[in-house]
Amino acid sequence: MTGARQTVARRLLGRMLVAGEVVEIEQMTARMRRIRIGGEALAGLKWTPGQHVRLLIDAGGLLGGVLRTYSIWRYDPTWEAIDLIGHDHGGDSPGVSWFRNAKPGQEISFARPDGSFVVREAPYHVFAGEETASVAFGAMLRALPAEAAVYGAVEADRPGEHLALPRKLVEVARDGAPAAASQVLVDAVRKLDLPAEPGVAYLAGEARTIQAVRAHLVGERGWQRRDVRTKPFWAPGRRGLD
Ligand SMILES: Cc1cc2nc3c(=O)[nH]c(=O)nc-3n(C[C@H](O)[C@H](O)[C@H](O)COP(=O)(O)OP(=O)(O)OC[C@H]3O[C@@H](n4cnc5c(N)ncnc54)[C@H](O)[C@@H]3O)c2cc1C
Repeated sequence: MTGARQTVARRLLGRMLVAGEVVEIEQMTARMRRIRIGGEALAGLKWTPGQHVRLLIDAGGLLGGVLRTYSIWRYDPTWEAIDLIGHDHGGDSPGVSWFRNAKPGQEISFARPDGSFVVREAPYHVFAGEETASVAFGAMLRALPAEAAVYGAVEADRPGEHLALPRKLVEVARDGAPAAASQVLVDAVRKLDLPAEPGVAYLAGEARTIQAVRAHLVGERGWQRRDVRTKPFWAPGRRGLD
């Protein structure tokens, strides 16, 4: 790309992105880290709980970065800040490295909040997923009225590694087994004492686990596919899903 074209591309990208900096870091569990990104540009963002942002990571200038997607855990326009929570899956890929190495004052840009994985009107709500999904679930649960009926199961690698959520969900642990195609989560959902009529289910996290939980709801409980909202967040061997 010529210098002039690069300048135009940078300006265009700059208009699409929101620029902020890391303002706070908190270790939430052994493998989950909350990072607050703040700055004037973050005032008045439009966000529905469950929606995500795409971070532009490792950008040399505004070009050359990679995008990684993270649910917003909390946002309050009056703070001029968003809270994201990254799960450390142990690799050294861009997303996990950014969360591991972020320092206060570090600049970071992101695309505006986006996504349709948000709560729907329903007689009751079922949440199922692992660590990565629990971030979106926290925001979605906080958005539900106190009287809304909520069920669900959240998986983490070890007991005590679950993110504290605003409503009680069943907590299960893989105990070192892979999070991909996790039978532990399917079994936990199978054990939920749900009403006879379908509600709405929100399934997120690893792609094949989501498929297995949906197969259980549709095949064993007789739910319609439209009652099951799915959002694959990652899959083994795939990079930067979404
Ligand atoms: C809508 C949406 C919302 C998301 N929200 C969150 C969130 O709130 N918090 C969060 O931590 N992540 C979230 N993710 C996942 C996130 O975008 C990245 O996929 C994740 O952080 C890994 O990025 P990476 O660059 O480290 O790895 P990538 O370069 O994307 O992947 C490299 C390899 O690492 C492995 N891998 C990736 N993730 C995991 C994992 N969780 N466990 C085991 N192995 C893994 C896979 O084999 C993959 O091929 C979300 C994804 C989507 C699409």
